[in-house]
Amino acid sequence: MDKAAESAALNAEIVEMLYANNRRSLMAAIVVMAALLLTQLHLINSSILIIWSVIFLSAYGSRGYLTFKYYKDQRRTLHSMHWLQWFRFNTGFCGLAWGLAGILLFPEAAPANQAFLIFALVGVSGAGIIIYSVDSFTSNLFTGGIVVFMIPRFLTHGTSVSIALAVLFIVYVIYVSVAGNALAKSLRENISLRIASNLDNKKVHQLAYYDFLTELPNRRLLSDRLQQAFVRCARGQCHGAVLSLDLNNFKGLNDSMGHQAGDELLQQVAARLQQCLRKKDTIARMGGDEFIAVLDELGCDKAEAIRAAQVTAEKMMAVFSQPFQLQQSKYRTTPSIGICLFHSDDYSEEEVLRRADIAMYQAKKSDNLNSIQMYDELLHPAIEMRATLENDLAFALQGNQLLLYFQVQVDETHRPIGAEVLLRWQHPTLGMIPPDQFIPIAEETGEIVPIGHWVLQQACRQLKQWAEAPLTRTLTLSVNVSAVQFNQPDFVEIVSDTVLGSGCDPRLLKLELTESLMVRNVEEIIIKIQALKALGMTFSLDDFGTGQSSLSVLKRLPLDELKIDKSFIKDIQHNAYDSFIVETIINMAKNLGQTVIAEGVEIQQQQALLQTMGCRLFQGYLYSRPLPLGEFESSLHTGLVHSRSQQSRVAPEDKAKTKKRQKASPTAEF
Ligand code: C2E
Ligand code: CA
Ligand code: CA
Repeated sequence: MDKAAESAALNAEIVEMLYANNRRSLMAAIVVMAALLLTQLHLINSSILIIWSVIFLSAYGSRGYLTFKYYKDQRRTLHSMHWLQWFRFNTGFCGLAWGLAGILLFPEAAPANQAFLIFALVGVSGAGIIIYSVDSFTSNLFTGGIVVFMIPRFLTHGTSVSIALAVLFIVYVIYVSVAGNALAKSLRENISLRIASNLDNKKVHQLAYYDFLTELPNRRLLSDRLQQAFVRCARGQCHGAVLSLDLNNFKGLNDSMGHQAGDELLQQVAARLQQCLRKKDTIARMGGDEFIAVLDELGCDKAEAIRAAQVTAEKMMAVFSQPFQLQQSKYRTTPSIGICLFHSDDYSEEEVLRRADIAMYQAKKSDNLNSIQMYDELLHPAIEMRATLENDLAFALQGNQLLLYFQVQVDETHRPIGAEVLLRWQHPTLGMIPPDQFIPIAEETGEIVPIGHWVLQQACRQLKQWAEAPLTRTLTLSVNVSAVQFNQPDFVEIVSDTVLGSGCDPRLLKLELTESLMVRNVEEIIIKIQALKALGMTFSLDDFGTGQSSLSVLKRLPLDELKIDKSFIKDIQHNAYDSFIVETIINMAKNLGQTVIAEGVEIQQQQALLQTMGCRLFQGYLYSRPLPLGEFESSLHTGLVHSRSQQSRVAPEDKAKTKKRQKASPTAEF
């Protein structure tokens, strides 16, 4: 593409040089023509003189007209080949007119005038060769026209003078052509070099200020444009707006159809968005699926500016009504748009962008998929909270702010068989943050990948330590793996390196996957699971029953365990429908040769019911809440789990009572 651009620029410049000489060469040609006519006037028949003059004036008249049309064409650099063809055609005609002079104006009986004629034509040819040398085709056409008519005439005249003049003419033309060619070559090289360096500069500029994928301005250029918009709005006392646009469920597309499809979508979205804006507005890609538009000078009246910003946002929304044609299939998506108005320089650049983002998050949270939201001071503080969490999460891992809690899993005799590892974030100012609040953010930002790796490392280290003590030697550890993490191309490699590197027994490590994973290519999932199972690890399907995985897909997955979601257990003792579903799941798992574990067991009655249905493994507040490592280990030592459940067994209690007791428990903060 760069080569093509270079060659187009070179052609345009050459054509420009050819036309640039036209005025001077036109004047010179007319002077020479007049001199020729004057000197040959009394020697040549006047009708012949008139015929030649007409031919000559048509050739140079059309040249004048061509030059006029060329300079009138505003887009001539784009049509340089067209103008070059016309120039060559016209130059051939001019060459022909001069050549005809060699025949028609040849004075048979006047050697001195013959010499003058040849002198004039030598001058014209030499000048033509030099002037047209940048395009050798043009210069050959011009000289060719002269030589072809004139040389035969001089040779056939047969006098020693005319033959000598013809030979001298040929020698001269060859000499000047060679010199002209050398000159033209170095000229073209110089032009090429200059063009290439201009293009390089442009490329550097492009890389620094434009997004590589969509060719939209990037964050740096946006910042510049935003500053300019601030200045203009302050000067004109008018309002401008920043629109933050984010695609809904873009991560889902990336996960299910791959990054290439994601890239294609972003490029098409960028192209459509650009069409919604005025020339003076800017739309930039900030990274990922996030776009920012800066709308300049929307009006002095606030209400008018709000309306104008909303109209643009609606236009942007409308471009999503048509599906996008990705390589694999058609794809529909919707955006969420947040708007923040600015006036003079009330706020900093960061503040305006942050407010537009907050409004966008608010739009995303609304039930309406196509949602536009204006920033409002009174917007729910939760959105500000989300922005804070997103920001701070990037430092949580390095800052040692992440902790692991362990929640025991027991068998029907209430003997601990293992634990689930659950993440907690000890935020420096906000206190302990539960995973439901930060894991979805970590998944969106991709931070879950390093975090998930860290969890796995800690779990493996724990298993290795537990292998030393008889009480903990056989305990399994279940680690939650999010779909984003599992879909990393190097997931298998990273997990096996971590597990093998830790020296723990892989058979004690269980990875919990969720059904959301199953939207992706099932073959790929099976290969990954099998590769890790070959090392001894086991797999559990978490939150089972809440997703929409088809039975046929589930049957093909080499899972070891189904984990019934806590939402089914919650009311199992009262809700016949829930208990029917749970029983069906348990039977299905049995048929597939998988074990079943019920999570969220809070009261003894639930365990008893599950047991009658054939469930043998349990996890829930009834046995223990998730605990920090130290407390978890001491609960094993003191037999807390066992005694608690014994206690529950002796006196089955209802849910309300359980909750009361949990509140009283000193370890029940999370
Ligand atoms: P999950 O995998 O379904 O984890 C079980 C959740 O149920 C835990 O919530 C646990 O504290 C809670 N729970 C346990 N027993 C009971 C009970 O008897 N009643 C009720 N109402 N809840 C109970 P937690 O710790 O807040 O974790 C929430 C979710 O965060 C987890 O759901 C899991 O999806 C995610 N998560 C936690 N740690 C990690 C992690 O290391 N990686 C990933 N990717 N996700 C994690
Ligand atoms: Ca889990
Ligand atoms: Ca679960």
